[in-house]
Amino acid sequence: MPRRCTVCDHPERHGIDEALVSGAPYRSVAKRFELSESAVYRHKTEHLPAHLLKAKEVEEAARADDLLEQVRNLQGHALGILERAEKAGELRTALAAISQARGNLELLGKLAGELDERPVVNVLLSPQWVTIRTSMLKALSAYPEARAAVAESLTELEEAD
Ligand SMILES: [Zn+2]
Repeated sequence: MPRRCTVCDHPERHGIDEALVSGAPYRSVAKRFELSESAVYRHKTEHLPAHLLKAKEVEEAARADDLLEQVRNLQGHALGILERAEKAGELRTALAAISQARGNLELLGKLAGELDERPVVNVLLSPQWVTIRTSMLKALSAYPEARAAVAESLTELEEAD
């Protein structure tokens, strides 16, 4: 039966790992945390690298999640502005919100692509974009001239890609 590592089982393992990473000699670490030198030495050489690797992965995943969350929040705001601008008939603001929402979608696509290691999707083919586009043109149906102008501008946007 394998022996348990007294450092891994230690309630202050995180602090011990930090001390070892910061370059503290394992002898002084052993003394400070009342562990045997051999246990600290074995932990440092056999277990610490795996812990560090795992911590780095967790940190990177957390950072990516955080970024995704922020872009999603931005997207929520942009769509909220779009809705209000549509209702108020403020076309310039609505177009700016659409442009912002499109940028967010691109960013989300890139982030998702990086996280999934898949190639970046074409935002203009995404269901969200189609929904935005449709609701925008629908909201403008009472203003045929404005609708035509927006439709033309959207088409230019899409063809530019
Ligand atoms: Zn250990």
